[in-house]
Amino acid sequence: MIVRRFLHAQGLRFRLHGKYRGKKLPGKPDLVFPKYRTVVFVNGCFWHGHQHCRYYRLPKTRRAYWKKKIEGNRHRDAQNYVRLVEEGWNVLLVWGCELAAAKREKTLNALALRILKI
Ligand SMILES: [Zn+2]
Repeated sequence: MIVRRFLHAQGLRFRLHGKYRGKKLPGKPDLVFPKYRTVVFVNGCFWHGHQHCRYYRLPKTRRAYWKKKIEGNRHRDAQNYVRLVEEGWNVLLVWGCELAAAKREKTLNALALRILKI
């Protein structure tokens, strides 16, 4: 929501629900920018297994279960990114931790620049 509002205010127009021309894109990107042939995923650090991130810590109980689950998510994400690139999309990621109050402005500005420069 924060990301959407910011990018919209920057004049960047996007589609939601991971669709483009009525077709669902791999991994259902959070934002699709047809004009820039760019998609953005806003990934939660835990569910998407953000490496070396303090928000990605496996719970102490059922560790093996969670490890397998998150690794499965990471694997699926990677496959989706490859498919999108093969279809000619630029894939940008934003992690939850990058949207913490202290980093938010910097992250969003950098994201807008990356979309516009592509
Ligand atoms: Zn993170």
